[in-house]
Amino acid sequence: ATPTALLVGTGRGSQLGILIRGPQVLEQTRTVDTIVLDKTGTVTTGRMSVTDVLPAGVSREELLAVAASVESGSEHPVARAIVEAAPAGRVESFQSHAGFGVQGVVDGAAVVAGRPSWLAEQWAVEVPADLPEGTVVAVARDGEYLGAIVVADTVKPSSAAAIARFRELGLEPILLTGDTASSASRVAAEVGIERVEAGVTPAGKLDTIRRLQGEGRVVAMAGDGVNDAAALAAADLGIAMGGGTDAAIAASDITVVSGDLIVVADAVRLARRTLGIIK
Ligand code: ADP
Ligand code: MG
Repeated sequence: ATPTALLVGTGRGSQLGILIRGPQVLEQTRTVDTIVLDKTGTVTTGRMSVTDVLPAGVSREELLAVAASVESGSEHPVARAIVEAAPAGRVESFQSHAGFGVQGVVDGAAVVAGRPSWLAEQWAVEVPADLPEGTVVAVARDGEYLGAIVVADTVKPSSAAAIARFRELGLEPILLTGDTASSASRVAAEVGIERVEAGVTPAGKLDTIRRLQGEGRVVAMAGDGVNDAAALAAADLGIAMGGGTDAAIAASDITVVSGDLIVVADAVRLARRTLGIIK
């Protein structure tokens, strides 16, 4: 997968709403035997909502307001959920750390929000050990733990059918996510994926693709995030979900405009049919 600026639609592909980078992509599509799927925004809608707020030493409103302010600089689904849940103030010196969380200055205080393990390891924040299962965002201000916010999303309506179709086409599905094992297993069970790799960093996603290729597999990867870009570029076939980030689209061979996984399966079928593999 080599990044180039231009995407071209070819014939039937553009009718399906698939943008294909060039004719060589058909051959790559024909030979894939494994499909690695990002969870958030690829198998799930990526429209998350806040399901629980666990303040520690501050009010629920204050925790949400601080979190919403720092997250106002981020486009991540987790960030959008938090910003929707509370009025956001100003953030300065904002920085996003793909696959981990965000940092910024809110009301003159240094705020970080992200994976609990990231706050503990990178920021020396004392994060409680008994946080709930699911997708948990820990928040700290000037090094003090302020609490946690739990968010959840839902699987796309056609994801289970798409997974079944991948299997029919001989592709083994693997769920790959930066999210926790508990969230990942719930989604995997819901859509019928057996193999799950969770808690994976953006660099780890790239390593996973290389490891699978090292086993002799020909690997397709579908993703939507900045955190997926390196893995999408390394995959034999990189597939970006429309509505995803520009980084993901730039790194991919194919863009599925609707972001519907069933269309990814249709694309594989179309490529094989075009090359005369199936009728
Ligand atoms: P996925 O692989 O499911 O797309 P990411 O790699 O983007 O997930 O993120 C992994 C984890 O990092 C998220 O589940 C979340 O805990 C944390 N995270 C990422 N971005 C943010 C953010 N803007 N705010 C808080 N937490 C974040
Ligand atoms: Mg994603």
